[in-house]
Amino acid sequence: MFCFDSNEEVLIMSKQSILFLTFSVVFLLAIKILVFPLSIEEAPISIEKEGKGEINCFVYHRFGEENYPSTNISLETFERQLQWLQENHFTVLTLGEALKLIDADNLPQKSVVLTVDDGYRSFILRAFPLLQKYNYKATVFVNTATVGGGSYMNWKELKQLVDAGIEIGNHSHSHAYFLNYSKEEKLKIFKEDVAKAQKTIRENLGISPELFAYPYGEYSLDLKKAVQELGFKAAAAQNSGVISSYSDRFALPRFPMGSSFASLEGFRSKAKMKALEVKNVVPESSVLSSDNPPILKLEINDSQINLNQIQCFVQGSKNCRLIADSRNPNQFTMKAEAPLNNRRTLYTITAPSLDGRKWFWYSHLWINPQVSE
Ligand SMILES: [Zn+2]
Repeated sequence: MFCFDSNEEVLIMSKQSILFLTFSVVFLLAIKILVFPLSIEEAPISIEKEGKGEINCFVYHRFGEENYPSTNISLETFERQLQWLQENHFTVLTLGEALKLIDADNLPQKSVVLTVDDGYRSFILRAFPLLQKYNYKATVFVNTATVGGGSYMNWKELKQLVDAGIEIGNHSHSHAYFLNYSKEEKLKIFKEDVAKAQKTIRENLGISPELFAYPYGEYSLDLKKAVQELGFKAAAAQNSGVISSYSDRFALPRFPMGSSFASLEGFRSKAKMKALEVKNVVPESSVLSSDNPPILKLEINDSQINLNQIQCFVQGSKNCRLIADSRNPNQFTMKAEAPLNNRRTLYTITAPSLDGRKWFWYSHLWINPQVSE
């Protein structure tokens, strides 16, 4: 975004130069908006996060592993994020702690949760010492089949994390694409796999995780139900968004912090983001049916937001239409302008508050199991 800093040079400018400069800036901004509409990453950030009961949760994978750019964050950026949290007096909680505090309606106003998927060794070698430096915790979701192999942490290292207050969650045993299995075998395989991971974690670490994270963030209605039946208290997805008291406990949103998302600027704006309260979402399922591009219908609680400035994004670009119902202005229909070709695609809706100081965010995930990664 354009930023106008006052300095000595500006002060001694003649009136004409200021007029000319103002005209040029307005002209350039108009060109930018016409030619390059605001991207999702450029949406203005809120000044201050207010309100109870919301957690801004992030998902990381690898730390300082530049050979894996799509899932990596540099150590420098990660430390700058931690530093910013400290300077701005955020409370950093584990996901389990945060959910308990939401239930007790006692969540600190500025709370974030840092989660780490897959249990790569770069976490304990590089990120964990930084977390200790700032006295922050995290929740690590472990897929048990790979523990101790290749670039993954072993059980001794995981035990060290448990002893230091890091929360361990279940991320399945095999980390498979469970939605690729046939309708008949999918549920059985999924339940056995997750139960195996739970048993392995209990045997090696002496704890029974209460939280689950779907491999690749992929879930269906029956997998969500299975996680519940297996006794977990909640499950994390990878839809971006803010966790609130009305979030689906078995598909909790998390903002990704890898690749181009892994910046200080992106982290700051997501840490201040607020949950856009939606209801009556149709379809309920994230798995793509025969309609492509799919149509999403939802109702938005507009008590705090400016519906006139609502925006939609398909995987971060504006190739979509968001239309309000003529009879009910809170009811919206969203559709991408072209068929979705990726395995996973996010429909995202953002809107500012009435005073423009805060931004609200909601994402719906579409998964097409026919497409390989
Ligand atoms: Zn994973």
